[in-house]
Amino acid sequence: MPLNYYEVLGCSEESTQEEVKRAYHRRLLQFHPDKNSAADVQEFHDVREAWQILRHRESRRKYDATCKQEQLEEEEEDGPVYARLSLDDMEESVFEDMWFYRCRCGDKYFVDRDTLPEKDSLLQVKCNGCTLIIIVEV
Ligand SMILES: [Zn+2]
Repeated sequence: MPLNYYEVLGCSEESTQEEVKRAYHRRLLQFHPDKNSAADVQEFHDVREAWQILRHRESRRKYDATCKQEQLEEEEEDGPVYARLSLDDMEESVFEDMWFYRCRCGDKYFVDRDTLPEKDSLLQVKCNGCTLIIIVEV
């Protein structure tokens, strides 16, 4: 995910060019090293970078399009959730040291003991055969 320039400037995607400009000037005052010795240099750099993109209608449009695209891809990657369950709901295979759960597509979700996260966390598992995922409480 690229830097969220709107967040950096403190405005939103719906902001007009004028509002973006005002937001930028507010941030400048906040972060400028001359005004604030404790300012975070990286943050100041981000503000400048955000402004370089959002100040021009064309580059802003391109940036918006890129963000939308990435968002779509991210949602797709996560996939729709088929089930939320705990490890106890899954079948355990003693021999292979893993758990499995049957998906509605006929294929299976696998949880390998080696890849188990720490206790009390959630694990997202992709189906082997389709785009569905399950969320497993470990
Ligand atoms: Zn499936």
